[in-house]
Amino acid sequence: MANLKNMKDLSFGTKAIREGYQATNEQEHSEAIFLTSSFRFDCAEQAEKRFSKEEPGNIYSRFTNPTVDAFEKKLATLEGAEKCVATASGMAAIFTTIMALVKSGEHIVASRNMFGTSIVLLNTIITKFDISVSYVDLSDLSQWENALQNNTKLFLLETPSNPLGEVVDIKSLSKISRTNNILLAVDNAILSPVLQKPIALGADIVIQSATKYIDGQGRCLAGAVLSNTEIIEKVASFTRTTGPSLSAFNAWVVLKSLDTLNLRMKAHCENALKIAIWLENQSQVDKVHYLGLESHPHHQLAKIQQSGFGGIVSFEVKGGKPTAFKLINAVKIFSITANLGDTKSTITHPATTTHGRLTDEERINANISEGLVRLSIGLEDVDDLIRDIDRGLF
Ligand SMILES: *Cc1c(COP(=O)(O)O)cnc(C)c1O
Repeated sequence: MANLKNMKDLSFGTKAIREGYQATNEQEHSEAIFLTSSFRFDCAEQAEKRFSKEEPGNIYSRFTNPTVDAFEKKLATLEGAEKCVATASGMAAIFTTIMALVKSGEHIVASRNMFGTSIVLLNTIITKFDISVSYVDLSDLSQWENALQNNTKLFLLETPSNPLGEVVDIKSLSKISRTNNILLAVDNAILSPVLQKPIALGADIVIQSATKYIDGQGRCLAGAVLSNTEIIEKVASFTRTTGPSLSAFNAWVVLKSLDTLNLRMKAHCENALKIAIWLENQSQVDKVHYLGLESHPHHQLAKIQQSGFGGIVSFEVKGGKPTAFKLINAVKIFSITANLGDTKSTITHPATTTHGRLTDEERINANISEGLVRLSIGLEDVDDLIRDIDRGLF
């Protein structure tokens, strides 16, 4: 493939298709897949040089693999990061980030409004390493500042939150983290680099679950950590030693998916906005939570910080859980699954699934009502999707 190194003025959409892959001597046009666990050497001397790092090159796929490398390079370009380490899943990316950068005795401030398993990870695994965690409300900058301790090492968050779409001002938060010598890590899975670039806004680290929009077709698990070279070397050394590396096959799947990410995200946003506007006009719906609506309290901030509002729409039906369940059971196109970011639209009842682990009090504090329904809007024809929801709203 042509060398794009000197073409600085390429737009995001072009880079998403053209960056990151060096064809082999076969001059293949589509990226090849290197399904090999190890690499052989021409002679004992070369093996010695590779292992001593005197000569760059692949040794073993837990360390590096050309297909994984191509995915890492392309994603780094799109997120505006110096370097990337791909991981086996989004959770592996979060775990790896914490283990590589935070020591025993140190402290993390985390958003309460994060992905459920991230909270479980912090509460059950991370605490085993004598790392303490304080939780704050995502949007409230004063809470982040007040949670600071002498041993605070990391701010960890996800913006916008799922399912309600709360947003934090990344730029302002990064001023607090920089002043206090704290790393700011942003989970960017809900928007993908097409709609938000946390590093340009001041974050030190971006975490991705490529399982969601980056794959976009619900086929495989994958994750990534993106940052500057110094941080990524620490993270890569952790994955090499402990093993949550991305497989070449999954790397190839998500690498190909990046080609269409830009177009897909725009279509997700377009469909989601149309559905959110339609829902706002339905008498059976009490409230719609979508950042693209002017009625959303964080609409203005999202408009500045993001270049689109994403594909997650949630809303509260009148009549609570029975009405929500009736709707979920009546739709025919939407799949009943807690997954998101797929070309296929999905529907779920957060109070009994993604947020089912919370106590009643925690759920009320998190604003997850019994009548709340979450949609991940896919790429089907939007009129069909609206008719499908209409069928269930009786
Ligand atoms: C799904 C998800 C994760 C976890 O990713 P996996 O690839 O499933 O491990 C982390 N963060 C967010 C925001 C997610 O939606």
